[in-house]
Amino acid sequence: YPPERIRNFSIIAHVDHGKSTMADRLLELTGTIKKGHGQPQYLDKLQVERERGITVKAQTVTMFYNYAKHSSKLDTSAAIDTVRSTEECKYLLNLIDTPGHVDFSYEVSRSLAACQGVLLLVDASQGVQAQTVANFYLAFEADLVIIPVINKIDQPNANPENVKNQLKNMFDIDPQDVLLASAKTGMGLSAVLPAVIDRIRYPNGGALSPLRMLLLDSYYDEYKGVICHVAIVDGALKKGEKIASAATGQSYEVMDVGILHPELTPTNLLLTGQVGYIVTGMRSTQEARIGDTLHHIRTVVEPLPGFKPAKHMVFAGVYPADGSDYDALSHAIERLTCNDASVSVARESSGALGIGFRCGFLGLLHMDVFLQRLEQEHGAHVITTSPTVPYIFEYEDGSKIQVQNPAILSSTSGKRLVTCWEPTVIATIITPSEYLGSLITLCSERRGQQIEHTFIDDQRALLKYRLPLREVVVDFYNELKSITSGYASFDYEDAEYQEADLVKLDIMLNGQIVDALSAIVHRSKAPRIGREVVEKLKKLLDRQMFEVAIQAAIGSKIIARETISAMRKNVLAKCYGGDVTRKRKLLEKQKEGKKRMKRVGSVDIPQEAFHQLLRTT
Ligand code: GDP
Ligand code: MG
Repeated sequence: YPPERIRNFSIIAHVDHGKSTMADRLLELTGTIKKGHGQPQYLDKLQVERERGITVKAQTVTMFYNYAKHSSKLDTSAAIDTVRSTEECKYLLNLIDTPGHVDFSYEVSRSLAACQGVLLLVDASQGVQAQTVANFYLAFEADLVIIPVINKIDQPNANPENVKNQLKNMFDIDPQDVLLASAKTGMGLSAVLPAVIDRIRYPNGGALSPLRMLLLDSYYDEYKGVICHVAIVDGALKKGEKIASAATGQSYEVMDVGILHPELTPTNLLLTGQVGYIVTGMRSTQEARIGDTLHHIRTVVEPLPGFKPAKHMVFAGVYPADGSDYDALSHAIERLTCNDASVSVARESSGALGIGFRCGFLGLLHMDVFLQRLEQEHGAHVITTSPTVPYIFEYEDGSKIQVQNPAILSSTSGKRLVTCWEPTVIATIITPSEYLGSLITLCSERRGQQIEHTFIDDQRALLKYRLPLREVVVDFYNELKSITSGYASFDYEDAEYQEADLVKLDIMLNGQIVDALSAIVHRSKAPRIGREVVEKLKKLLDRQMFEVAIQAAIGSKIIARETISAMRKNVLAKCYGGDVTRKRKLLEKQKEGKKRMKRVGSVDIPQEAFHQLLRTT
C-alpha cells in the first residue's frame, strides 16, 4: 500500500454519542469482523470498559476497504488525482477508537497524533455537548480534517437540523459537509468511509527517508512480552531489523511486526503511513516510553514532536486491605502500570494503614477505573485514602513543596508557611437554559469565577468557569447531573495555580490523629467538612469497650466533636433461642469483621469506615 492508499483516522465524540458502535459498524462493513459475531463494542476489551460501557483505552485496528471512486461525489479540494482513473481501489484504513470521558483526554490527544483526520460524532437529539467542544478543539488545534457526522438519526426525537445549526454557530462547520447516520440501523453509513477517503489527506511521510516511528502505546502480553503500537511516520520497518529509542538510546531487535486486523496479524513489514504493532525484546513496558521516537540503529534522526505528558490531577494513598498483602499489591500495581503508564506511583507509609503507595491519576474516574482494574484483573483488595489534588505550599525561606499527601505536612511544620497555592481548571458546561440558575449557584458555592456565559441556541447555554480543582474532584459531576436531571454536560482543562486560604484538617480518635483521614481544605469549608466527617464516623464506628471521642481539628483547635459511649458489643444478645447454626454463623461473622479492622491507638476502625469516609471527604 502506497501512502496515497492509506488513511489514518479516529472517531471522537462526547461520551455515549456512539463512537464504539460506529467503530463496530465500520469493522463489519469492511469485513474485519463478521456481522453479528463477537460482542458489541468490539474494541472495548477491558472488563471495566464492558461493565461501565465506556472506552478507557484507545485501540487501533486496520481495515481494508474497496472503494469505487466514481460512484460517489468528488470533493475536488481533497481528491487524489492518482486514483481517479481507477475504478475500484483498495484502501488501508487505520481506525483508532478513543475514550470520550474528560479524564482520558490524554488518551485522545495521543490517538490524534497518529491521525490525519477524525469523524466528529454528535448525537442527533442531544446535540453538541461539553466533550464535543473539547474534542473538536483537540482535533482542530492538531490541524486535522474534521468530518462531522450526526449520529442516531433513527431516534424519534432526533433533530439533525438543529444540530447542524449548532455546529455552524460554534465551530463554523458548513452544514453541507455534515453526514447523517445511524450506527444502530446502518442508515447513512455507506457515505462514511468514502468521506474518510475523499476528505482526509494521506499520511505524507518520506517513504525514502530514514525510519521514524512514533510509539503510541504499549502493553504486556504473557506470551509475547511487551507489544508496542507504532505509527510509521517516515521510512519502513522490516522484521529482524535493529531499532533504537531516541529517548533512551537503548537498542532492540524487531522480533515480530504486523498490523491489528483486528488481532495481531504478522506482516513482516510496515511501510510509511502505516499503523501497527512491533514486538521487541523489551522486558517491561516502562522501557516503552509513550510518545518516543524509534529509528534504525546507526541513523541519526530528529525526534518527532511526542505528546503532552500526562498531568496528575488527583492523588490518593493505595494500601493493601490486609496488611500482609503488601508484596502482592506491589506486584499488581507494577503489572497494571505496565498497561496504564499515565499513573504515577511512589511508596509511602501511614500510621493507620501501614505501607502502601501514593498514586497520581488523571482524574477521579481514572482513579476508579484503576482501582477496579487492580481488583478485577490482578485480584488486589485495597483501601484508598481521601483523594487530594496537588497543592503547592510556599515557606518563609522561599522554598516550595508540592503536597500530594496531607499527612506529610506535620513533618515540615518547623518552617513558617507563607502562601498556599491550589490548582484550578477551566470548566465548560453545556446545559438546557432552565437549569442555568441552579448551575450558577453550584459554581459559586464551589468558589468558581464566571468567565463566559453564552447561548448556543434558543434552548441551550454554555457556561465557562474557573474552578478550584479540588471542588471539581469532590462530587461536582454527580451534583451537576442531579441538579440538571442528567441534561448538562461538563468538561474541564487544567489551568494555573491560584492563591488560596488552605488549612489541614485532622481527624482524631481519643486524641490520636488518624493520618489517613487528614485532608487539606479551604478554611471557609473546614467547619462543615469537619462536622460531616465526625458525624459519619460516629455512625460507622462500632461501640468499643471504652468511650471514644471523635474530633476534627485544625492544628490544636477542635472544630467538631462526637462521642461514642462505651458498650461491649455483644453479638449473641441478638440471638434467637437456641439455634446453634445461627449462633455459629454470627460468631464467624464477628470474627470476619475483626479481621478487617485497622487499629489506631486503641480504637478499631472497620475497613468499611475508611471506604465510606475516604471517598467523600
Ligand atoms: P460511545 O460512548 O461514544 O462509545 O458510545 P457507544 O457506542 O457505547 O453507544 C452508546 C449507546 O448509544 C449504546 O447504547 C448504543 O447502542 C447507542 N447507539 C449508538 N449508536 C446509535 C444509533 O445510531 N442510534 C441509536 N438509537 N442508538 C445508538
Ligand atoms: Mg465507547
